[in-house]
Amino acid sequence: MKYRSTRETSCKDAVSLVTAMRNGLAADGGLYVPARLPTLTVDAFENLTDLPTIAERLLRPFFKGSALQTELGAICEAVFDFPVPLVPAYAGREDGPLALELYHGPTAAFKDFGARFLATCLDRAGARKKTVPLTILVATSGDTGGAVGCAFEHAKNARVVILYPKGRVSPLQEKQLTCWGPNVTSLRVAGDFDACQRLVKGAFADPDLAARHNLGSANSINIGRLLPQMSYYAYAALEVFRTTGDAASFIIPTGNLGNALACLWVRAMGLPIDRIVLAQNANRSLVDYCAGGTFSPRPSIATLANAMDVGNPSNFERLGALPTKAQHNISAHVALDSDIIWQISRDAKRYGRVWCPHSATAAFAWHQLPTHERLRPYVLVSTAHPQKFEETVAPLIDAPLPHAPALDALANRPCRYADIEARPDAFAAALEGFNPE
Ligand SMILES: *Cc1c(COP(=O)(O)O)cnc(C)c1O
Repeated sequence: MKYRSTRETSCKDAVSLVTAMRNGLAADGGLYVPARLPTLTVDAFENLTDLPTIAERLLRPFFKGSALQTELGAICEAVFDFPVPLVPAYAGREDGPLALELYHGPTAAFKDFGARFLATCLDRAGARKKTVPLTILVATSGDTGGAVGCAFEHAKNARVVILYPKGRVSPLQEKQLTCWGPNVTSLRVAGDFDACQRLVKGAFADPDLAARHNLGSANSINIGRLLPQMSYYAYAALEVFRTTGDAASFIIPTGNLGNALACLWVRAMGLPIDRIVLAQNANRSLVDYCAGGTFSPRPSIATLANAMDVGNPSNFERLGALPTKAQHNISAHVALDSDIIWQISRDAKRYGRVWCPHSATAAFAWHQLPTHERLRPYVLVSTAHPQKFEETVAPLIDAPLPHAPALDALANRPCRYADIEARPDAFAAALEGFNPE
């Protein structure tokens, strides 16, 4: 399978999977998509019931002809090694929706799937090349940096440099950005998130620096983060189909549209998925688009579901690249901060179900559906553990906040970071000085 740019209809410049993962963005500024979407039916998954084997079967066509083809099984075993419960969202209400809990990984958010898969693939691909170790740069304002640092912690052929804005991340986030092993370095930048991002962009634009450190990126548009996210949709759709005979519908908290796009791809491949509902916060660009309007990017608005504060979803270009028939049965709903607060507090009190602010947008969207529509088997995609957003969630519930063992385990790790000024020379010096051996 080759990967082409969304801005290219022919495949003449298509690249291999590993190259697409290394490059992140295509040379023409577009996003990589598979040259064609393979098709698979339920029968292809006969006797497969656990996530790693379902993932391996689903992703096999995407790895065909890749340098990593023979390693796919081992990659899936290594990456999908934590539980992914698909359970009734509301205990004691069997006619209610299911919850797909994607937050039992090491940093307690669904970004663990993409970050770990990409890290494992790049590390294994690097081992074959025996070149200078890859240096992944991540500018982060929160969750992504932690997931990427954690994912690369034991990589043998890659190191990570995380840049985050001083004084602008929560204590728990700072812990997650600074507590990883010797091949992950954290730079606390005297500036805001944009300053961090400028330093990273500047480094990529410096050919000498980029070559000397073999720079790579792990941001959310990377195809290596999207592919593994398809796995849990296939897994959940098969579960629902096998137990009810019906196609599952999904409600997905949406920011950059990566998670929802993975679901669209799985449906377009032929697996039994019915409706796909995008849950947005006050950043409602997709709500207007799905209601038949045009897509108009806008500045982002800060909300309680901050990982979804995206005014211009970067994966929209991949949505537009899908055939029109693959875009049927998509709708979108808005949950304002007041709705998020209401939903968290009500569901905790009534059912003991504690949502993070992002997952609460999906629960809210389900409650807005007409009664007959709610009879379908709906799956609420739960993207982060509520403990990650303790400041928001704890005051809204009467009971103690549930804890994630993975987050508690980080508490004893030491924080390591270096302070730097937001200047290219300071960043270059930090890169030179970083030697994990
Ligand atoms: C990143 C993130 C989202 C949004 O996912 P996209 O793929 O950007 O649409 C939702 N919830 C949480 C907790 C996240 O970290």
